[in-house]
Amino acid sequence: MTDRVRATLEILARLVAFDTTSRNSNLALIDWVEGFLSERGIAAKRVANANASKANLYALIGPSEAGGAVLSGHTDVVPVDGQPWSSDPWNVSEREGKLYGRGTADMKSFLALALAHVDGARAAPLRRPLILAFSYDEEIGCLGAPAMIAEIVRDMPRPAAAIIGEPTLMKVVSAHKGVRSFIVEVIGREGHSSLPDAGVSAVMEALKLMNWVAGEGRAAALIPHPHFSPPGPTMTIGRVEGGTAANILARRCEFVFDLRAPEIAQADVIEARFREEAARLDAEIKARAPDGGVTITRRSNTAGLAIERDSAAEMLARALTGDNEIRAVSYAAEAGLFQRAGIPAIVCGPGSIEQAHQADEWIERSQIEEGARFMQRLIEKLCA
Ligand SMILES: [Zn+2]
Repeated sequence: MTDRVRATLEILARLVAFDTTSRNSNLALIDWVEGFLSERGIAAKRVANANASKANLYALIGPSEAGGAVLSGHTDVVPVDGQPWSSDPWNVSEREGKLYGRGTADMKSFLALALAHVDGARAAPLRRPLILAFSYDEEIGCLGAPAMIAEIVRDMPRPAAAIIGEPTLMKVVSAHKGVRSFIVEVIGREGHSSLPDAGVSAVMEALKLMNWVAGEGRAAALIPHPHFSPPGPTMTIGRVEGGTAANILARRCEFVFDLRAPEIAQADVIEARFREEAARLDAEIKARAPDGGVTITRRSNTAGLAIERDSAAEMLARALTGDNEIRAVSYAAEAGLFQRAGIPAIVCGPGSIEQAHQADEWIERSQIEEGARFMQRLIEKLCA
């Protein structure tokens, strides 16, 4: 085991021990990372949320020059609630070459790799900088990263490429879908269920919109795309609640759905059609229940990553990994946000998305070793 791998494993254990489930503050982890960097003479910058309970953190290592590489990762993890873990999720344990713990795959191993290579980067004659960019609230809609990316674009010498270390088994992923999610509230008018026409059941009205979402989602998913699977846009309803009793026409029903699309234009068209459908229903309900209607709230909107062949990020990642296949993934990541801000981006990190968000999340030790070789080659590139 090389020193860099050993250092990565030590840092990983520290990072996993912070319960950074998105509902919690991530400041204890950020404090630790800030301390780690400041011990090495690196001043990191924080970008906090509105009530200062969470923060992004970014730092530049090496010369203040354009053309650097951003290593981007999120610090938050998904909940372990209700999952049957066979060991403590906040304590990394190794069994048969696999390291178990929440965030080992998604995506604290990448953060640990980046930090474990800070000493190597500082000692190397870098001609272009390495920029670390650690975000919060990625898992609940990429809420943290935009403010940090804006600051990096404003205050830092322009980086040439961003590598977003979501688990891809160290393969280069050139595209990911964008995702937007919506909260839909339908208000009807209560009444006795024996007289359905005397009131308006919000549940039964909401069902019309939910059926639209389900049907359109199934149809749109078939729109061909050379790289995505499923190829087209998808829609799923993730949560629904409404009504009070079997014999009461429901006053209120709320559901949440997401829309994932390869292209922003596709998502715009589907969203516009949904809004038309909702406006039509809103008018129908208001005709029978003037205080009722439909309200749509967009709760998140993350840009997709579009394939940019031969971008600086593509060239860099392909040179570092030797991987020349074009790949696209259906989950969202922060790469699209960097691309929209004018920084070419790709997704490439250790571990597999198949182990993400599960009980007994794990990463193969060999993935950490491969990640360490990737970091080493990246540092060499930045010296050239
Ligand atoms: Zn992730």
